Amino acid sequence: MRRISIFGATGSIGQNTIDLIARAPDAYNVVALTGAGNIAQLAQDARRLGADIAVTAHDHLLDDLREALHGSGIDCAAGTDAIREAATRPVDWVMSAIVGAAGLAPGIEALKQGATLALANKESLVCAGSLMLHTAQAHGAAILPVDSEHSAVFQALIGEDMAAVERIIITASGGAFRDWPLEKLADATLEQASSHPNWDMGQRITIDSASMFNKAMEVIETREYFGIYPSQIEVLVHPQSMIHALVGFNDGALMAHIGPPDMRHAIGFALHHPQRRTLPVERLDLAKIGSFEFRAPDEARWPALRLAREVMARGGMAGAVFNAAKEVALDGFIDGHLRFPQMAQVVEDTLEQLNSDNNVIDATMTLDNVAQVDHLARQAAKAVIKKRAG
Ligand code: NAD
Ligand code: MG
Repeated sequence: MRRISIFGATGSIGQNTIDLIARAPDAYNVVALTGAGNIAQLAQDARRLGADIAVTAHDHLLDDLREALHGSGIDCAAGTDAIREAATRPVDWVMSAIVGAAGLAPGIEALKQGATLALANKESLVCAGSLMLHTAQAHGAAILPVDSEHSAVFQALIGEDMAAVERIIITASGGAFRDWPLEKLADATLEQASSHPNWDMGQRITIDSASMFNKAMEVIETREYFGIYPSQIEVLVHPQSMIHALVGFNDGALMAHIGPPDMRHAIGFALHHPQRRTLPVERLDLAKIGSFEFRAPDEARWPALRLAREVMARGGMAGAVFNAAKEVALDGFIDGHLRFPQMAQVVEDTLEQLNSDNNVIDATMTLDNVAQVDHLARQAAKAVIKKRAG
């Protein structure tokens, strides 16, 4: 039996992971499940899967969790430290599907015990890519991508020589506002930004898809996973979201990965790797689909893409600043303090302020230093928002 833990079990990726696990309950021994506010879901899944421990991120919900798991014999805990501790419980495979920088510390703990880390939490690579990769290497742990684009690239590279790779193209649906007139973006509502044309995902990544902050993070993620130069990474708008990525080789060949927009493919690939197993995803009928469209991304519409290039050029901990500023700006939009296009302006201003501080950006990348940069960037981004409002 494989021992597994799921961090962010109650979210969109977590629930899709549980969907796959629950189809073969005898194959898995579920150790830890974590969530945040949705105690009923967390408790229900912990009982259903017979988890050893369930942890909520919120201290004040510990009693609710205890009550929901009363009589089950399942351990309960609450708080950020408890989530991190749960990641030290020995397992073979971990799904990292917490949203935001909060996913970094448990991911590092999982790597330290040499587990295979199925990584949906792209923020940890954006904030601390080299720390993640070095930790994995030092402890003999594997990181498997659970982002549709990066899983696609990973699969297109099987058996290939990285020296023959000229470029990696990741696709983007264009999100909710792909075809909106630019001048209308300032009036985009939360509800409009929270509805994705193709994918059913958590609210934060859905809004990040509309702004392309998600794609911007994925460009940085591509650089970290595959170790290629930023100039070799391209973004291609592909409204159907069926070609997830393409790898271009030095003989002119492009290897494309095609599949339905269903995260259970990337999750299942990471779960069964290095084997391929039957997965409950739709089989595409290409004749019925008829055609695929492609467009170049417009950086006036999606300034986040340009900011990602600046972050990669700056290096060091600029990624941690970028991610933290983006999280604060996204909160600002969700709370109604920022208009949609202002999110990118807040991130740009924050980067401008902190990227010139070499002591911050070029400090050694440790978990503590990343946390410190994250904190500074959040303060700076909040100050930028306040100044704009005032
Ligand atoms: P979601 O919002 O649906 O779920 C997030 C999970 O994290 C929930 O279990 C929530 O309880 C937990 N959580 C939230 N804040 C937390 C905190 N401070 N501490 C601990 N736990 C916390 O998000 P999602 O769409 O499932 O995305 C999860 C991760 O996967 C993100 O990094 C996202 O970018 C990535 N991802 C998602 C998709 C997708 O299809 N949803 C695709 C690719 C990558
Ligand atoms: Mg993706």
